[in-house]
Amino acid sequence: MISKKIKKNLSRSSWIRSMFEEGEKLRQKYGAKNVFDFTLGNPDPEPPLLVKESLKNIVLEDVTGIHKYMSNAGFDDVRKAIAEKIMQDSNLPILKDHIVMTCGAAGGLNIILKAILDPSDEVMVVAPYFVEYLFYIDNHGGIPVIVNADPKSFQLDISEFEEKITKDTKAIILNTPNNPTGVVYSEEILTKLNSLIERKEKEFNSKIFIISDEPYSQLVYDNIKLPNLLSIFDNCILANSFSKSLALPGERIGYVAVSPNITDSKLLVDALIFCNRTLGFVNAPALFQKVISKSLDSSVNIKEYREKRDVLYDHLCSAGFDCIKPQGAFYLFPRSPIQDDIEFINNATNYNLLFVPGTGFGFPGYFRVSYCTDLDTIIRSKDAIMSLGRDYKLL
Ligand code: PLP
Repeated sequence: MISKKIKKNLSRSSWIRSMFEEGEKLRQKYGAKNVFDFTLGNPDPEPPLLVKESLKNIVLEDVTGIHKYMSNAGFDDVRKAIAEKIMQDSNLPILKDHIVMTCGAAGGLNIILKAILDPSDEVMVVAPYFVEYLFYIDNHGGIPVIVNADPKSFQLDISEFEEKITKDTKAIILNTPNNPTGVVYSEEILTKLNSLIERKEKEFNSKIFIISDEPYSQLVYDNIKLPNLLSIFDNCILANSFSKSLALPGERIGYVAVSPNITDSKLLVDALIFCNRTLGFVNAPALFQKVISKSLDSSVNIKEYREKRDVLYDHLCSAGFDCIKPQGAFYLFPRSPIQDDIEFINNATNYNLLFVPGTGFGFPGYFRVSYCTDLDTIIRSKDAIMSLGRDYKLL
């Protein structure tokens, strides 16, 4: 009944979903309070008050016409407000005409890939990766090429790119802060990648796009500054959203920004707008375009996420797990004490601990711990994590 391709994709689609189902069983058996579910990337905080107030005000103002079809690129005033913000951060002359409002970062990634890929073009993805990338690339006929991150730091491994960039490389997807490692790529490593790309473009007489997937760009800790990819890479297309920064994942609101340094950027934007229409998104949700345009300087409480990271990182280290302390997003990615990460996370459920195996992110031998859950649950998980560490004689 369904296509062979979707049948295959369904069968390997989601560890996160299957762990969630496992969690449901445990919650029924032991009670929700006694289950420590670190699997989902669904923001725990409520949207900031400003967002809720803006939503109420816009509805109460009852402005005529805001619920109609609009330009497939979105409202001009919203695009302009976003362009101004990106211009401040990147120092590039970004205008509203470089912005397309989208249905989240996911919608943005899909219109980008649809707009640029010809059949059998290669798209590089850094492992461990957000697994949806593989499906999005497949949606638009591309071929994913996996490059591993450096497991000592989860920074980019430039030698991997050197080896795997070919004449068919059309784009590289970068995600910083990263899901699942939480790592923020350093300016130094990104600059090295840029030099390599420039060299390869000359060698192959090609153009390689950087697709910067940035839904976690506001979630950075320890006063570090997130390197600005639009300033580093000339051929950069940015996909961003308000799913994490304003805790609005259900509202499906985001945008794509195209670097003015891309030759023929106008044609690219036209293609993106066309794909927004013809993939059936038509336009980003009208109401939430208006809401986020009034909250561009707002964000969820970053300190709360940082505190959760610190507590959970301390639990894991105290229990003897080997873990990098990342500076962004809401994930930790410790090494599994045994190479078989699936066996490991299955055993962790015996302690009512739920994690996602690294295998689900194309990186076996590790596991993802998501801390977008309440602080009390994180604090109370210590005994279970310690027992798990003891089980593997890590203490
Ligand atoms: N990219 C990454 C790395 C993500 O983790 C997610 C969501 O979890 C997305 C994209 C999709 O974000 P959005 O909800 O804005 O579509």
